[in-house]
Amino acid sequence: MLKTILLIQEDTLCARAVQEVLLGSGDLTLGIEWVRGCSEGLERLNRTGKQKSCIDAVLVDLFLPDSQGIETFERLYKELPDTPILVLCGPEEEHIAKLAVQLGAQDYLLKNRLDSDVLLKALRTMIERAANAEALFEEKERAQFTLDSIGDAVISIDAGGLVTYINAVAERLTGWSRKEAAGRRLADVLRIINVDTRETASDSMGLAICENRTVSLAPNSVLVRRDGAEAGIEDSSAPIHDRRGQVTGAVMVFRDVTAARALSLKMSHFAQHDGLTDLPNRILLKDRLIQAMAMAQRHGKKLAVLYLDIDRFKHVNDTAGHTAGDRLLQSISKRLLDCVRSSDTVTRQGGDEFVILLSEVAHAQDAAVTAEKILATLSEPHSIDKLELFVSASIGIATYPGDGTTGESLLKNADAAMYQAKDCGRNNYQFF
Ligand code: GH3
Ligand code: MG
Repeated sequence: MLKTILLIQEDTLCARAVQEVLLGSGDLTLGIEWVRGCSEGLERLNRTGKQKSCIDAVLVDLFLPDSQGIETFERLYKELPDTPILVLCGPEEEHIAKLAVQLGAQDYLLKNRLDSDVLLKALRTMIERAANAEALFEEKERAQFTLDSIGDAVISIDAGGLVTYINAVAERLTGWSRKEAAGRRLADVLRIINVDTRETASDSMGLAICENRTVSLAPNSVLVRRDGAEAGIEDSSAPIHDRRGQVTGAVMVFRDVTAARALSLKMSHFAQHDGLTDLPNRILLKDRLIQAMAMAQRHGKKLAVLYLDIDRFKHVNDTAGHTAGDRLLQSISKRLLDCVRSSDTVTRQGGDEFVILLSEVAHAQDAAVTAEKILATLSEPHSIDKLELFVSASIGIATYPGDGTTGESLLKNADAAMYQAKDCGRNNYQFF
């Protein structure tokens, strides 16, 4: 493909010499356009439309009739920073040419030593370098665009633990912009803690670098954003290698799993609690019974299971309606909670049956005190939908270890005692 060089040179002899070098080289891929002044050169470079610039490189003498010295370079460079510039100068102006190179020129050539081979080589190198830079830039842009388009957060660090890159999702999750994060210590940008202990989580990226392997975070990790907001995250960190296989840093891919974790917590709550009263259900009671029995055995104490069934509850449904019956069950569950310690467990078995687990009772009589308290509290009127509803309950009590040493036997025996209370005229409690 033809590459066009713009020559900006007032001196006709010098310009001719350059043109002859290019024409004489037989290289048909190099074309040349010649202008005499800086303004004319800028006008040519800025040309738009059909006659668009398409200049691939500039060869410029810094001393022109309309512009002198470093100013010539600066005017061109400011206008088109991406077009490579090769400077021509006399031996006494070499220091200015060197300054131009410091400011961004590709190189400079001395006019008095303008050898055709040197000139051709310098022009070709300059054009090639610019094409490589352009290709690299495009590749980087494409990679960046790809990383910004994915749904996961990406952050990378160098071998010294300083942030080299974060993508758009990581910017949002951490609260740090790419510009601010670059060059900072990873720990400043990415604060990850264990949600239970609140301690800083182990550095998975550092581990990936040290051990040269892929590392994942502990499952209960939480990212603390710059503004203090927290998000549950899952991650995978991998080492980055150079062409020789040396570890030069690490990359972490992570995602916000707050919603997924909340959903799974909700699901497990639903599985273990009653939908109407939000009390633990029989599945959770089974667990609590096992724990409580183990604890009581360890401390040489007793525990009591109170099996409670509301008296004539069908009558409430029949007279006040099923919805009022539901609200009455909710009111009953609140009162039951008020009658026990926070270490005890109130559960709904289903229907109008509740089981209360009193952990670590010193004497069986303590359970009777609680049963009396429950009967008295439940007998107070319940205000439901402008109605005053009255209920009583029958309670059966079984104690561990005397009445059973398994959850199942304790429940069975407390249930039997409850039926005995029903037989004794309801609104009372009975021990097994
Ligand atoms: P008893 O004194 O013998 O216990 O008489 P009872 O009427 O309470 O009869 P039982 O305990 O055998 O039946 C409980 C009734 O509670 C059966 C059903 O109509 C009602 N029930 C069960 N679950 C619910 C519920 O979720 N909401 C409402 N409103 N009623 C329920
Ligand atoms: Mg009942």
